[in-house]
Amino acid sequence: MKKAICLFSGGLDSTVCLYLARSQQYETVALSIEYGQRHYKEVSKAQVLARALQVRHYFASLSMPWKGSSLLDDKVRLPQNRDLPILSKEIPSTYVPGRNSAFLALAMSCAETENADAIFFGANALDYSGYPDCRPDYLEAFVRAMLLGTKIGIEGKKIEIQTPLLHLSKKDIVLLGKKLDVPFEKTWSCYAGEDKPCGVCDACVLRAKGFQEAGIPDPLLS
Ligand SMILES: [Zn+2]
Repeated sequence: MKKAICLFSGGLDSTVCLYLARSQQYETVALSIEYGQRHYKEVSKAQVLARALQVRHYFASLSMPWKGSSLLDDKVRLPQNRDLPILSKEIPSTYVPGRNSAFLALAMSCAETENADAIFFGANALDYSGYPDCRPDYLEAFVRAMLLGTKIGIEGKKIEIQTPLLHLSKKDIVLLGKKLDVPFEKTWSCYAGEDKPCGVCDACVLRAKGFQEAGIPDPLLS
């Protein structure tokens, strides 16, 4: 059986990605990373989800004391109510410098140790227009870096980066999640860590658009 390391935040996209890897008969190992983000609500959701699925779940942590992002610095306001066209063009203050590269490096270390065949990463087209470290060219370059920079790579094993959500709209992601029986109520997308989703941050705006266009009510809002 092939094995996959799934970068897993407990958000909508990475949860759909994890369920998809399982449905494709991968032995899945979830990897959640704490990196000093504003709140750990997603990570605790990730724990609940991984337990329910009975997948092995690693937690890794990073420290980025230089911050450089509104996700890490609660003195910087989160962008609110941004229009969708702007949202997919500008690199927002929620961009964390180098975060996905750091995540992929940890996933690479985990994959090499676990002798895994693939890393599942829930990057999405809506993100990659704004986030340079979600772009397909970059991810291809990272696959090559893994071939050159790991023992198993030098021995000839290629670790793939699977990004099944890359070209899907949020609507498609919601519909795929429904098909895979993802318990949406256990996922968390909002950048603010309150009891209820704030409804105005980019993550909430995109999530709401996805559920609305899919014609499915978001159970987190009911
Ligand atoms: Zn929000």
